[in-house]
Amino acid sequence: TSYSSILGIPVPKLTMEETVERILHVIEENSDELYHVVTLNPEIAMACRHDSHLRSIVDDAGLLTADGIGIVMVSQLKGNPLPERVTGCDLLLRLLDSGPKHTRRVSYYLLGASETTSKLAAEKIERSCPNALVTGRHHGYFGEEEGERIVSEIAKLRPDVLVVALGAPKAEQFIYRYKNRLNAKVAIGVGGSLDIVAG
Ligand code: UDP
Repeated sequence: TSYSSILGIPVPKLTMEETVERILHVIEENSDELYHVVTLNPEIAMACRHDSHLRSIVDDAGLLTADGIGIVMVSQLKGNPLPERVTGCDLLLRLLDSGPKHTRRVSYYLLGASETTSKLAAEKIERSCPNALVTGRHHGYFGEEEGERIVSEIAKLRPDVLVVALGAPKAEQFIYRYKNRLNAKVAIGVGGSLDIVAG
């Protein structure tokens, strides 16, 4: 893979389709390590300049995607263009539509958004995504103690994909903090995408 540097952060030059393929490959692979996908938007890229903890989260991620036209434009201006934008929301919708070839459904845990949104999003996915199975969910307004309970629940369910809709950079911080305890194959921070899925 080749990269384009955005404010010193190397973003791989992958299309949406290639990004989805990579994630599905990780799901089929059964690695012990959690694959953290960070959808890099301009706000996170900027914040990395003065927030060294956030920068280490980004450096440690398994995959970065160009979240937003701003990131793609910067890469074009620098003469090393990223092929297209891969936003958290588009990526989630594409993943929900996909599945490992002729095997089984991909399991999801949805974390974040309001209780109403979370419930509606899960129902919507159940109804319209034959390749996806929501095995657990929790709204995104919890304290420290409940956070621990949620992490244990996720770990027990071992979802293929943990979708974290807590807003950026809260989602990225949550995933990074609990990386070794979540027992998920892939974790993605997706901003307000569950509100969109819930319609
Ligand atoms: N959210 C949450 N818990 C919080 C703060 C936010 O679950 O403590 C949810 C909120 O309901 C919304 C999403 O996270 O669904 C935030 O979306 P936003 O568009 O603000 O995120 P960004 O695009 O800034 O990452």
